[in-house]
Amino acid sequence: MAKNPAISIHEYAFLGKEFMKYQDARLPVMTHAFMYGTAVFEGIRGYWNKEEQKLYVLHVREHLERILQSCKILRLQPYYNVEEMTNIVIELLKKNKAQNDVYIRPSWFKACERIGPNVIGADDEDSFVVTSIDLGDYLDTSKGISVQVSSWRRLSDNAIPARAKINGSYVNTALSKATAHLSGYDDAIYLTEEGHVAEGSAMNLFIVRNGKLITCGITENILEGITRKFIMQIAKAELGLETEVRQIDRSELYIADEAFFCGTGAQIAPIGSIDHYTLGDGKPGSITSKLQKLYTDICRGKVAKYKDVLIEIGY
Ligand code: PMP
Repeated sequence: MAKNPAISIHEYAFLGKEFMKYQDARLPVMTHAFMYGTAVFEGIRGYWNKEEQKLYVLHVREHLERILQSCKILRLQPYYNVEEMTNIVIELLKKNKAQNDVYIRPSWFKACERIGPNVIGADDEDSFVVTSIDLGDYLDTSKGISVQVSSWRRLSDNAIPARAKINGSYVNTALSKATAHLSGYDDAIYLTEEGHVAEGSAMNLFIVRNGKLITCGITENILEGITRKFIMQIAKAELGLETEVRQIDRSELYIADEAFFCGTGAQIAPIGSIDHYTLGDGKPGSITSKLQKLYTDICRGKVAKYKDVLIEIGY
């Protein structure tokens, strides 16, 4: 069973409209976002390239565009645009002089202190926070992990929309992940209320059947993953593999030749078994391994053709 990664929080954070020491970035306990989960967030990864002594930060624009979509759905009022948020992220990383793989966490949240979960209030203030930490693997990417089809269902779009990264909705993730861990699995796959495959606890899912990549559509209550989209792009361009986007049945999981999770945090994490059904020989499959190598090389700035998905930071 995977252990929780230890976190090493960087020295500086950004809160409200300024940079400050992380330990000074504090909020009142009655902050609306804490009381009701009324915040949205993103997780962005930066990869340290040792040879070049540079940090490569992946898909920054895509994450910051998505955070604004999440704000819109939750009716938050952001006061920075994508360019301004990008500059804050870059500045923060420069201040923190990170020389490891890092994880950056921007979040817009309801900063007012009041009782009542309504997100609209005459004098409400919304605020912005960005923190960064060192982060290696979130899921073990070196083996085939063991996964449980969760008894918890994926939140439906008409309850809390999964396409918005709303903090409160990660209670759904917490429940499925904890149940999986307590049952001896590394992670979990959700089904929708209708019983079709949705995604992992905090990552999207691909299966491989007869040499074909398959993933479910964005109307299956999944987060519209940036990595999911990118994998479809590079699989086609570099491996000549089209992805079939369609509903996936639970029983297809058990007879898949390969399966993997993907996400900014999860990267490409091969799945070895699902509900104790071993996929292939239980080790990372050949298509998964090829994609994983390609993805890792791109993230570290080693593939010239894909450098435009990265922001390069040197100190
Ligand atoms: N689904 C959920 C629920 C997630 O939290 C994440 C992580 N952001 C993903 C999928 C993967 O999305 P992305 O590739 O954009 O990081």
